Amino acid sequence: MNKQQVIETVDQYYMPVFARYNIVLSHGEGPYVYDHEGKKYLDFLAGIAVNLLGHAHPKLVSAIAQQAGKMIHSSNLYYTEVQATLVKQLAAVSGLDKVFIANSGAEANEGAIKLARKYAKTLNSDRVEIISAQHCFHGRTLATLTATAQPKYQEGLEPLPGGFKYVDYNDIGALKAAVSEKTCAILLEPIQGEGGINMPDGDYLKQVRQLCDEAGVLLILDEIQTGMGRTGTMFAYQQYGIVPDIVTIAKGLGGGVPIGAFIASEKIASAFHSGDHGSTFGGNPLVCAAANAVLTEIEQAGLLANTQQTGAYFLDALLQLKKKYPDIITDVRGKGLMLGAELTIPGRDIVNSCQEAGVIINCTAGNVLRFVPPLIIQPVHVDEMVAVLDKVLAKIKESA
Ligand SMILES: *Cc1c(COP(=O)(O)O)cnc(C)c1O
Repeated sequence: MNKQQVIETVDQYYMPVFARYNIVLSHGEGPYVYDHEGKKYLDFLAGIAVNLLGHAHPKLVSAIAQQAGKMIHSSNLYYTEVQATLVKQLAAVSGLDKVFIANSGAEANEGAIKLARKYAKTLNSDRVEIISAQHCFHGRTLATLTATAQPKYQEGLEPLPGGFKYVDYNDIGALKAAVSEKTCAILLEPIQGEGGINMPDGDYLKQVRQLCDEAGVLLILDEIQTGMGRTGTMFAYQQYGIVPDIVTIAKGLGGGVPIGAFIASEKIASAFHSGDHGSTFGGNPLVCAAANAVLTEIEQAGLLANTQQTGAYFLDALLQLKKKYPDIITDVRGKGLMLGAELTIPGRDIVNSCQEAGVIINCTAGNVLRFVPPLIIQPVHVDEMVAVLDKVLAKIKESA
């Protein structure tokens, strides 16, 4: 098929839920992807914070190929060594005890909500309510889109499941006021991703942890976007001096294969008994082999340090752009390689212009440029991206 035929075929047969760009991607290598006609792009979106090791990383490719040649799927009726290796590693890096492996972020959150409610039931309490924050994103299943406090994800899907409540992010007073005898858990992203790279103020997360402890409420942190080294530590909560009762991860975990997980303390996890949760595909040997390869490479290649260093370099470059274009960029924020630039104008045209110039970036919340490149990038890639963005911004400034 030529480019136009691919686009027409997808548009004809795929349900029309995605606003896609007019690019047909073919393959990638490291932080670069190539389209159907061989055009090269620097990829600062990484499949929406997924391809931690970039594209076609030899170690990830060989781990997947080797496992595929042995066994792709086994079901959870049997034990496998690759799954043993993965859950042991995830417990170790999170500081928690027990893991459940799902297939996506939404499923990980769905499972975390189920576990929190089950745990409350074991205490014979009526705590069923989940409190989440405005502008959050937790997924597209019915429960997780209900936890996602944004009408655009909910409209037309009513009746929504009950037991969800929303407060403003970063407003500890509002959270305190919302917590009651009915509250089961508080569900938060440590840094809001889809909502626009919204950072927690000062000791907000510590105050939330304290509130949970005092009120007997569980803290579920959704680290689906922030986790797996994205912010420069394996989990963002490690930089805020707290540990959640349950953490959820997905996106970067498998380096691109569909895998999510929720991890809980022993005490909470003991609320689950045989038959309480399940998944046919969850934690199959193929995805576990991929996730093991990702974890090993993060360690061996020093990707946490690289994320901190290259992230700091990148943040500085964005701050310089803000200085240069104060009428366009009003704020630059983020941690590690999860950075955002808030604009006075919608971001979509900038994203399109950058793509034409061979750089893939993303815009979220309408006017926040979001940068979530692979964790393997170097300052030279930041320079390449920033040079393109600088040119695009200069053109906008000229025409304003
Ligand atoms: C992407 C994302 C999800 C949903 O993950 P899916 O794999 O698309 O279901 C949930 N929470 C956060 C914070 C995310 O970034």
